[in-house]
Amino acid sequence: MYLHCFLPLLCLGLAITASGQDEDASASAPDAHASGLLGTQSRLFPPLPFRPHLPFRSRPKRPLPIPIPRPGFGGQSVDADMDDDEDGPHTSFVRCGPDFGACGEGQCCSAQGYCGQSPSYCQAPDCLIDYSTSCDAQKSPVGDDTSLISRPHIGDVPYGYTPVYSCTEPKTVALTYDDGPMGYTGDLLDLLDAYDAKATFFVTGINSNKGQIDDPSFPWLKMIQRMFRTGHQIASHTWSHQTLDQLTQAQRYDQMIKNEIAFRNVIGGIPTYMRPPYSSCDSDCAGDMDDMGYHIVYFDVDTDDYNNDTPEDIQQSKDIFDNALKLNKATGRPLLVIAHDVHEQTVYNLTAHMLKRIRTAKYRPVTLGECLGDSKMNWYRWEKPPVKDKAMNEETSISGSKPISPDGTCGTKYTCLGSVFGDCCSGYGYCGNSTLYCGSGCLASAGSCSLGDEQPSKNATFLRYRWQTPR
Ligand SMILES: [Zn+2]
Repeated sequence: MYLHCFLPLLCLGLAITASGQDEDASASAPDAHASGLLGTQSRLFPPLPFRPHLPFRSRPKRPLPIPIPRPGFGGQSVDADMDDDEDGPHTSFVRCGPDFGACGEGQCCSAQGYCGQSPSYCQAPDCLIDYSTSCDAQKSPVGDDTSLISRPHIGDVPYGYTPVYSCTEPKTVALTYDDGPMGYTGDLLDLLDAYDAKATFFVTGINSNKGQIDDPSFPWLKMIQRMFRTGHQIASHTWSHQTLDQLTQAQRYDQMIKNEIAFRNVIGGIPTYMRPPYSSCDSDCAGDMDDMGYHIVYFDVDTDDYNNDTPEDIQQSKDIFDNALKLNKATGRPLLVIAHDVHEQTVYNLTAHMLKRIRTAKYRPVTLGECLGDSKMNWYRWEKPPVKDKAMNEETSISGSKPISPDGTCGTKYTCLGSVFGDCCSGYGYCGNSTLYCGSGCLASAGSCSLGDEQPSKNATFLRYRWQTPR
């Protein structure tokens, strides 16, 4: 949804020529992606019509409730938005950026290349992280890093190098919402509840000057917990919505790991699904996502909602959705739909329309995992699983020979010893190799409890090394 370019003509060109699969992009997605699952997952169903990408041109016109920031605020002209800043552009003439170098300590380099400290300079994703020390993108959630969480490629949905473009379960629609949560997201959850519909949220940790998602002084933390509690799926849209292709490998890890720490602070676990901002993730990026155990998810129905955020224009997004449903209804081909919960018309107009049409067509509005036939157990990785009653008091049970855990759970039924998930069974009934599994509360009846014998998986060691080694 953000355009984040210095050269308007180049941006416009990229936007126009970007693939129809690339709605969230300011740059075209690599061809490797376009030839990925489109060629495999769509085999059962006829392809959707190609739809050219249109240039960004609008944002919400009505003011939002204070102090919630305006949704979709990103990539905008600083001049147009700085009147209320204590150090607006007219008070800052210190230049920064590729031609001028970095700002001083504690300063932020704005998208237009001026140093300052107010939100308009520091907000993500526009603040130039290579020339700043205090961009929102450079803030970190509190807590241990998550890179030692075991990351086996569980389930049948492909990871990393093979992105997901389409759902597989017939007669399902996966509505996915990017860039939130933000001011309208609570109302969206009410709406989904009213229709008994489930959706997927690709959450960004600190974009658009909204504060951190794990900061309890903002509403986002409770909103995400509500999503989780009520059966929606939570996925990662990176910490601060940078273009992953344009980052170093260390910066890419930083983008994912910091969002993971925040997720862990909010729901106790980290997602296995992610969507790259601007749909931009080249083969290096895909390799990193593969290493980190992420499914890369795009979409096959682009509502173009961020270009249609007026009561009149949103009809175009409705038409896109209606046409996709009409085209595929006969075969039952499922739809993977992208929208953005940061836009007013998406929440208060388009979503109800889509839900009504889904119901009329006898499709089901489900989460991404459900539309891919992926077990809910595979949607997250846990340090402290939310279900705590599974294996409590297990220590006292009589240990016998148990089958090796096929799914990462352990306790009365399975042992972790010899499993691909790790040899220790945590007090919460999940297998792993770190102190969280092998230390206090570890169930000796369902695996090893000796950390000395167990080393973190090669993958985890690799991740830690790579994340902490700037390049
Ligand atoms: Zn986005």
